[in-house]
Amino acid sequence: MLSIHHITKRFGTLVAVDDLSLEVREGETVVMMGPSGCGKSTTVRAVNRLVEPDAGSILFQGSDILKMTEPQLWQARKKIGFVFQHFNLIQRLTAAENVMLGLVMDGMPRETAYDKALDALDKVGLRELSERKPSELSGGQQQRVGIARAIAAEPPLMLWDEPTASLDPMIVREVLVVMEELARYHKSAMLVVTHELPFALHAADRIILMDQGRIVETGPPDQVFISPQSDVGGKYKELIE
Ligand code: ADP
Ligand code: MG
Repeated sequence: MLSIHHITKRFGTLVAVDDLSLEVREGETVVMMGPSGCGKSTTVRAVNRLVEPDAGSILFQGSDILKMTEPQLWQARKKIGFVFQHFNLIQRLTAAENVMLGLVMDGMPRETAYDKALDALDKVGLRELSERKPSELSGGQQQRVGIARAIAAEPPLMLWDEPTASLDPMIVREVLVVMEELARYHKSAMLVVTHELPFALHAADRIILMDQGRIVETGPPDQVFISPQSDVGGKYKELIE
């Protein structure tokens, strides 16, 4: 589904991502963890070309994202759902309108798009609140609308960059529950950046640990957190114990 080969990204003299390679297979949930500043966001953003790597290739369904023309990139982005830390909902639109916007812009008839939006809102437990504006929703509910927006087009790949990081600790759980359900029952492949250890333990097929722009360890959660081979893994193990 996604195959990143030897990407490097420098900001001036800083090497944010250093010759990094990884794969996410169809339907797989891969959780990427590591200390702040180790290059997780830069890696995930490169997949959507919000960041341009200096070297390497990023194959999505077999085509190199880094070589795509602007129209090709538009087509590819439709198949990649992205959930950020900040949900950026449009305040004057209802939850349903926020979710259907991308579908309508892609040419889907409004009625079909509305039905799809309701389905997506149902999956995140918000069907009853579909006609509310973002200001009438809690932070957790707004982020769930953001998730519904990302899954509405049923993308084969989903990228998540710390989707719970800006949420009140009390409502982090409601978003994690939705994410876990998607990881378990949704067909999408998921690359998830998060610091949420319980989510990583329960939902990940594979963990990738990063440090200083490189992958320092990868494996299933029980291996990485129970018998870590890296310093970063050792720190997570201590947190679990
Ligand atoms: P993480 O998501 O793991 O916290 P990032 O990928 O955001 O890390 O950042 C990796 C490194 O690159 C950090 O040192 C960060 O300060 C730097 N960095 C990220 N984006 C930029 C940018 N646009 N300009 C300059 N430095 C950046
Ligand atoms: Mg980040």
